[in-house]
Amino acid sequence: MNILVINCGSSSLKYQLINSETEDVLAKGLCERIGIDGMLTYQPAGGEKEKSEKAMPTHTEAIKFVIEALTNEKTGVIKSLDEVGAVGHRIVHGGEKFTASTVLTAETIQAIEECSDLAPLHNPANLIGVRACQELMPNVPMVAVFDTAFHQTMPKTAYLYGLPYEYYENYKVRRYGFHGTSHSFVSKRTAEIIGKPYEDCKIIVCHLGNGASLSAVMNGKSVDTSMGLTPLEGLVMGTRSGDIDPAIIEFVAKKEGKTLDEMMNILNKKSGLLGISCVSSDGRDLEDAASKGDEKAQAALDIFAYRVVKYIGAYAAAMNGVDAIVFTAGIGENDISCRSKVCKNLTYLGAQIDEELNKCRGEERIISTPESKVKLLVVPTNEELAIARETLALVK
Ligand code: ADP
Repeated sequence: MNILVINCGSSSLKYQLINSETEDVLAKGLCERIGIDGMLTYQPAGGEKEKSEKAMPTHTEAIKFVIEALTNEKTGVIKSLDEVGAVGHRIVHGGEKFTASTVLTAETIQAIEECSDLAPLHNPANLIGVRACQELMPNVPMVAVFDTAFHQTMPKTAYLYGLPYEYYENYKVRRYGFHGTSHSFVSKRTAEIIGKPYEDCKIIVCHLGNGASLSAVMNGKSVDTSMGLTPLEGLVMGTRSGDIDPAIIEFVAKKEGKTLDEMMNILNKKSGLLGISCVSSDGRDLEDAASKGDEKAQAALDIFAYRVVKYIGAYAAAMNGVDAIVFTAGIGENDISCRSKVCKNLTYLGAQIDEELNKCRGEERIISTPESKVKLLVVPTNEELAIARETLALVK
C-alpha cells in the first residue's frame, strides 16, 4: 500500500509518498508560502527536484498540486489517487487524550481541536491539512500520529511541575514532550542494533536538530523528556532558549518595556544558538564563524553541548543507569565535534567514544569503543517512515 505522509504547518506542507511494503520513498517535496503566493517542490525517487510557482491561496490548492505532481504523466509515480491507500498526518499536540496514534474520525478530529489550546500555532495548522486531504480524498482512511503520544508513559514525578496543583487540574499544565515519533523510532532501532530486547533497555535519545530534545527510554517506554508543556523547555536550541529562570521574563520585560507576547517571541525565535552567537541559528554557520575566531559562536556551540551533557547525566540518574546513548537529527547525525565534545564528558559512566568511528555523517553506526560500558551510536531519524508505519498498522 502507498501511504501519503503529510506534515502541515500554517504556511507550508511537507509530503512523502511511501510504499509501505518496501518502505521506499516514491516521491517527496514541499509546498511553501501557502496563503501568500505558493511554491511547489517535487522530487520523484531517482529523479530531478522540480520547483514551480503555483497559486496556493489555501492548503486545498496546495494538496491538489501535490496530487497532480504525484499523478503527472511524465514525472508522476502513481497513475491515480486510487493508488494512495492511506494518509498519515503529523499532529503536534495530543494532550493527555492521545497516548497513541489514532484513525481520524469526526470524534477524534474534535478531540484534537480541543488540544489546540496547548499548541495554538501547530494543531490548527495540522488540522487544516487534514481537512484539505479529506476534501480531496474523501474515501481514503487517515491517521493522526502525535508528537506527544510516545511521552504519555512518563510518570507523574517526571511530568508535574512544581506549581499549584490546580493548574494541572484546571488547565492540564504539565510536561508533555515532543519529537515523540523520532524518540520512539530511534530508541527501537537502537535496541535492535545493540541486540538487546527493547523491553529491557535503558536508552537516552539525543534528538539534536533545530528543535532539540532528549528522552530517557526505559523498558520500551519514555520515562522523561526535556521539552515540556511546549517545545520551549529543555536544551538550548536553534532559536529557543530552553530552560531559563522564569523570573528573567519579568526582569527583562520591565527593563525593556516589553509585553508578554514580545518576551515569548524572543524566547522562541531570537534566543538559543542565534541569540547567544548573534550570528546564526544554524550549527554549520556557527562552526564556520568559530573556526574564524568568533568567540560568541564558539560559546554558543559549547553551551549547546554542555546542556546536552547535563541532561544525559540527569537521565542516566533518572533510570539508574544507561545501556546506550544515541544521537539523531541534523546536529546529532552530522556534527562530529558536538558528539565528541558531549561524549568526552561521559567517561564517568564508562562511556568511551572512538574518535575514528565518530567521523561519520548521516549514517547508522556505533561510535563507542568495544570496551565502552555504554554503547554510543548515531541513528538517523526518519519521522516520515515512522508515521507511515503507524498509519499502516492502524488501517490494515
Ligand atoms: P529541524 O527538523 O528541527 O528543522 P534538523 O534536524 O534538520 O532540524 O537539524 C537542523 C540542524 O542540523 C541545523 O542546526 C544544522 O546546522 C544542523 N546540521 C545539518 N547538517 C550539518 C552538518 N553537516 N554539520 C553540522 N550541523 C549540521
